[in-house]
Amino acid sequence: MKILITGGAGFIGSHLVLKLIEQGHDPVIIDNLSTGRQENVPEGVEAHFKDCRDSESLKQASKGCEFVYHLASTVGVEKVLNNPKECIENIIESTHSVLDLGIPGMDFSTSEVYGKNTGLLTESGDLVYSSKARWSYATSKLIGEWLSKSVGWKSIRLFNIVGPNQNRGYVFSNFVYQAVNNMPITVYDTGAQVRTFVDVRDTASILSSLRDKEFDVVNVGGIYTLSVREFANIVKSVLNSKSEIISVPYNKAYSKGFEDSFEDCPARMPDLTKLHSLVGDFKYLSFEKTIKDTAELVRRVQ
Ligand code: UDP
Repeated sequence: MKILITGGAGFIGSHLVLKLIEQGHDPVIIDNLSTGRQENVPEGVEAHFKDCRDSESLKQASKGCEFVYHLASTVGVEKVLNNPKECIENIIESTHSVLDLGIPGMDFSTSEVYGKNTGLLTESGDLVYSSKARWSYATSKLIGEWLSKSVGWKSIRLFNIVGPNQNRGYVFSNFVYQAVNNMPITVYDTGAQVRTFVDVRDTASILSSLRDKEFDVVNVGGIYTLSVREFANIVKSVLNSKSEIISVPYNKAYSKGFEDSFEDCPARMPDLTKLHSLVGDFKYLSFEKTIKDTAELVRRVQ
């Protein structure tokens, strides 16, 4: 099947492209290379290095495609806070233009939409925000979900996807990089914040399985739930690193101006009941393998 992947040169998109090729599909990429990289595109794959808000380029790229994975997006809270108008518009407008193609597909939302909720996060649960600007990212993504729902698209709430080739802007990739280089591992604040990690290669398999399933919104995440401090200790020990683990206050960790608009998520754990009812019992890669494979790539390319 010919399948369009917006953001296909990015971290998740490129792993999805590899999975689809392995399964005998014909993926086509459209990516404006804002965070994606040309080197992530496998040889022979049709790629359009254009912005998916450009409807002509999008139409061109989507010719003959029967399904769309809409991964192209401004990613991460900090980016949105640094340039809110551009980022919020980008998230909403790109979703709008992809939906206008009239092809079935999947939109990518985020676990951020759960806001300040803690405990197991369930698709049907209430969403809780404060008026801090941090939540502008979550609310923009939520509009994407509503737009998608209005045309019968599926939405995926992604939870901390990690693994080889992720840029250093995230706790997992940053700690692995720091541990490989015996640099201090930077735990922000108390390190009691909790996250649940899933390997990007497992994510790609799950996303492919979900293509022909019936649902409106589903959590996609993993089973490895840890506090940031526990995670720092695990990375250090798995990689046999000499790194010291240090505490960094939030106002030193994030860029200037972030303090007033920042509020961290205390804990993020996906309820995977709905996911597993759709894809069956999924056998996840071990967390140790994810750490080691990520480290190996860091060593090779840095
Ligand atoms: N974090 C950290 N050290 C780092 C990078 C991030 O302690 O070098 C913390 C961050 O404050 C947050 C958690 O790790 O509590 C996860 O951050 P990330 O940016 O990976 O993603 P988030 O889950 O917040 O979207």
